[in-house]
Amino acid sequence: MNTILLGFVASLLAGLGTFIGALPVVFIPTISQRLEAILLGFGGGVMLAATAFSLIVPGTDAAIEQGHSQAIAALIMVLGILFGGWCLNFIHTNFPHEHFFKSDEGDTI
Ligand SMILES: [Zn+2]
Repeated sequence: MNTILLGFVASLLAGLGTFIGALPVVFIPTISQRLEAILLGFGGGVMLAATAFSLIVPGTDAAIEQGHSQAIAALIMVLGILFGGWCLNFIHTNFPHEHFFKSDEGDTI
């Protein structure tokens, strides 16, 4: 199959999956806090697995392919993860934003 057509079909299926996955939000107005916690935990687990399998492992492999030892490749990935965490914390503390369950940052509601 043509690569561009395959990419188009794969993107279309991914978008359709997102649409179908979002439908319950439209038709179910409220959910229990217990179900919400379960769904948020599931979503967090999926994102953590995506991080590990789709970013960290290929990043380490790419560093090894560029000639670094496994230890240096792992160090590069650890430094990258720490730098990403630092960037998120920097953005969180220096840019105004609101939280879903409390008002402006710093308020104790
Ligand atoms: Zn915040």
